[in-house]
Formats: sequence, structure tokens, C-alpha cells
Amino acid sequence: MPRIMTKAWGLGLAFIAAAALALALRPDLRLAARVAWNDPRLLPAFADDPRVHYEPEARGCAEAVAEIAPRAIAQIEAAHGRTFAQPPVVGVYTSYENYGSANGMGDPGIAAVTRAGVALLSPTLCGKERDRLEGVLTHELSHVHLSGWRPLGAPRPPQWFTEGLAVMASNGGGAEGVSETEAAQAIRDGYRVVLDGRRWIDFAGLAFEREPPRDPKLDALTQRQRLAYRQAGMFVGWLRMRDEKAFLQLLRALEAGEAFEPSFEIAFGDDAQQLWRCFISELSERSRGDAPK
Ligand SMILES: [Zn+2]
Repeated sequence: MPRIMTKAWGLGLAFIAAAALALALRPDLRLAARVAWNDPRLLPAFADDPRVHYEPEARGCAEAVAEIAPRAIAQIEAAHGRTFAQPPVVGVYTSYENYGSANGMGDPGIAAVTRAGVALLSPTLCGKERDRLEGVLTHELSHVHLSGWRPLGAPRPPQWFTEGLAVMASNGGGAEGVSETEAAQAIRDGYRVVLDGRRWIDFAGLAFEREPPRDPKLDALTQRQRLAYRQAGMFVGWLRMRDEKAFLQLLRALEAGEAFEPSFEIAFGDDAQQLWRCFISELSERSRGDAPK
């Protein structure tokens, strides 16, 4: 008996040592462990709306989120043309450090992230950037909606589409400070976001055909990102207006786990690049039509 105990202990210790070694050597495993440890679903649920989970000190913010959530959810369901696959979960933080650990990027500077189908909100959205709370929450719920339906391991749609969809569905969440008029002018001037097939793009990685001019008073990365998001959002909105049936058909295909490019072509009868060129030429014609004679 004692020998078996010793053996079991030995195995247990060896397992712990191996796990510790793996965590020490593999930063991706370390990150995954930190994210799992900080999963917002482990935080208490807000009594009035159990979809909202919060750090105890973030009670006031959870209350604000719970007040917004029903209309944000209704807005996304209307824009996406379908209910959520399951009740969406939102995590609300007061600690930048914990938020940074939970968002899987280790970066507390991002206003919100959707990870594993859960929207995580930075403390800034109930602080300095409170005026962005409703738009950003609605934007994230668009990501939660799409990922909630997609089967695990399904091919990811390109980021320009998921971000454009989220901006469009939230009426501009994530593209604050860049109006449609400004974004349209930037497109006419050749400062066009590149609709490439990349599935993950960090903020610095967003590509423009021509580098847009910078306002020295604003943060360069934020400016680029919001202009890119606004342009993508306008294009997705244009696609929807052009052919709503095709737009919804595309969403249903993506939710079923189909690949983006063939689904887009089946729905719209053309590829996204071709329609992007149509969108640009319509914008240019519209501006000529508006110009004084
Ligand atoms: Zn987004």
C-alpha cells in the first residue's frame, strides 16, 4: 500500500513538474493557461442579467452593460437576420491587468475583444471612453453572434469582412471619430483599405493602397484602424443594400462553417474584389453628381 501511494505521488509530482516545464517553455501554453484562468464566465453573473459577468468592483459598469445589452442584442439579431445561437456572455473588468490576461492578447490597451465566443470589455469603456460603451459592446456582439453559430474549426472569414460586418451592424461601433463622408473621401483620394484574405491582422498590419495622412493630434494606429473599419463597414452595408437576400445567404453559409470566398461568389454571383471596385466607382460617380456644375 505505501509503495503504491509512493508511486502515485511520484507520478503526480512528475505530472506537475512536466506541466510546469511545458508552461515555462511554451509561451502559447502559458497564454492559454492564463486565459483559461481568467475566463470571464468564472466571474459572478449580474443578478438582473446573468449574461453579464463582472469583477466585483465593476458592479456599476455591469449595471450599465445590462441596461444596454437587450437593445444591443436586438440590434445584432436584426442586422444578422437571426437570433444568437446561445445567450451571449459579456465580461466586465475594472482591472486592466486581469482584462489583459483574459483577452488573450495580454494587451490592456484594446477597448474590447471577443474570445472563444465571449465579449470582454476593457475598464476604459466605463471610464475614459464611456461614450463608446454602447457602440463597442454592440460591435463585439456581432463577433459573438457569428462565432456562436460557426462550428469549431470552421474556416475563419477574412478580417475585413467580420470587422466590416460588426461596424455596419453596430452603426459605427469601432469606427468612432471617422464619419462616412470622411471615409468616402479617403476612398476617392486613393487611401483605400486593402481587402485581403488575412484572417488575423494586428492593428499595425492593416494595409492601405496609399498610406492615409495622419493627424498628429491623434494616435496613429487608432486613426488607421478606425478609417479601415469604417471603409469596410460601408462596403458591407453597401453589399447588404445591393442585395439583402445574397447578404443573408452569405451569413447563413458562414454560420454553417462554409469557406468565405466560394460562399461569397455563390451568394453574390461575383467575387468581393470585383464588387469592391463597383462600390468605389459608385462612390466616385456620386461625388461627381454632387459636385457643383
Ligand atoms: Zn471587431
